[in-house]
Amino acid sequence: MNIHEYQAKELLSKFGIGIPTGYPANNVEEAVEGAKKLPGPLYVVKAQIHAGGRGKGKFSELPADAKGGVRLAKSVDAVKSDAQDMLGNTLVTIQTGDDGKQVNRLYVTDGVDIAEEYYLSMVVDRETSRIAMIVSTEGGMDIEDVAHNTPDKIETITIDPATGFMPHHGRAVAFALKLEGALAKAAQKLSKQLYEAFTTLDCEMLEINPLVETKDGELLVLDTKMSFDSNALYRHPDVEAMRDETEEDPMEVEASKHDLAYIKLDGNIGCMVNGAGLAMATMDIIKLNGAFPANFLDVGGGANREKVTAAFKIILSDPAVEGILVNIFGGIMKCDIIADGIVSAAKEVNLSVPLVVRLEGTNVQQGKDILANSGLPIISADDLGDAARKIVAQVKEAA
Ligand code: ADP
Ligand code: MG
Repeated sequence: MNIHEYQAKELLSKFGIGIPTGYPANNVEEAVEGAKKLPGPLYVVKAQIHAGGRGKGKFSELPADAKGGVRLAKSVDAVKSDAQDMLGNTLVTIQTGDDGKQVNRLYVTDGVDIAEEYYLSMVVDRETSRIAMIVSTEGGMDIEDVAHNTPDKIETITIDPATGFMPHHGRAVAFALKLEGALAKAAQKLSKQLYEAFTTLDCEMLEINPLVETKDGELLVLDTKMSFDSNALYRHPDVEAMRDETEEDPMEVEASKHDLAYIKLDGNIGCMVNGAGLAMATMDIIKLNGAFPANFLDVGGGANREKVTAAFKIILSDPAVEGILVNIFGGIMKCDIIADGIVSAAKEVNLSVPLVVRLEGTNVQQGKDILANSGLPIISADDLGDAARKIVAQVKEAA
């Protein structure tokens, strides 16, 4: 789960981490109120969307030379006009895709006199099974570009969970950022606080870009992105409450309500499968036959009729879907229950695309009978290869 910059800053400030003062705003009035509480004379108005690259982003509705989604404002009036410009409009950045994201909220924050910009992030590194702290002197730019062009400017420090964060980790961070004296001390303290925040909050990723050194010799978090391990969210109701469903794919939100593992993809063949491994294999075999899956969907081991119906509706609500492949192995789940669910869902949603079903396992014959007697144009398949060939052929034929 991702959260907004202003929410991440609110969480990090509880760990004592240095952050410029700022206020979230849902409308122009709130943006003005926020600005009035700040000392000035420099304010920054920042679009709150779940994507980076806002500074260099473009608003679809504004002229091409208009400023982006992070704007320096030199007066409360300028804050007001920037807020009017941004709210409700669509910001397109390198991370949003061409459609962009609508800006529904802003963050009005203190303008900082920047001396240097650095990069610091933390991830759970699956290769070492440890938390890695990634630091670079090249802050404020795309870290992917830095990694590509000047990989020697990125340092990775891994932290053994058995010892936790040790003073030498902090010194390594300060050294990698080429900091000395009081600033090195500040970097050591900050990296320790970040490690504590990361582990306490069960983060998946925490990125600070840029981390800045101010002209007054302070280290401040200017921009941050945080994401959380969704399996641990139950331990953090305060974090869970920060979820902004308007930022997520509506189909994925709906799927999570039914406890379905659904991920939207770019193809045109909707897939409903039980078991993540079988779902992956189904997607592979669709590709092998020259087409692309529209989604990953694992209905789980103990799916009932309601769950199958919900899954079906979610797949069909994707306008890109031109055909559906259902591939179920009835182990714990029985084929007749699945067949029942498919038939009732297909009737309920007025199925308008070809549907190929491959059932195998417990009560397979009852399941196949239910499908055959349903009066619906459901195409039955015998095995995985047969199912993939049939759905791909059907979709090509219809096109
Ligand atoms: P994004 O990464 O989405 O473009 P950032 O918050 O990193 O957004 O802002 C982009 C740039 O704007 C930063 O690299 C920094 O140079 C400048 N900036 C952001 N916040 C402030 C601030 N509070 N004071 C001064 N400059 C800022
Ligand atoms: Mg940034």
